[in-house]
Amino acid sequence: MNDKFKTFNNIDTVHGICEECQEDVILVAIVSDFYRCTNCGSDTRQHVNGNIRYLRLTESDKAYIKQNVNKTT
Ligand SMILES: [Zn+2]
Repeated sequence: MNDKFKTFNNIDTVHGICEECQEDVILVAIVSDFYRCTNCGSDTRQHVNGNIRYLRLTESDKAYIKQNVNKTT
């Protein structure tokens, strides 16, 4: 069992401000450190620096998600 598999077996949700829609929303973990907004459907990356923020993805972030999500579906 690797960490990614465990992440999928233990789906967690968090509460935060989505960078895309600027709403106070529930975010669902898709892979470790990456969350999907339940309001607008955008994927965001959790960034902890004193405060927790949810950032827009870079191209490499998107590639990482694609790679990891495809492995389990
Ligand atoms: Zn959003």
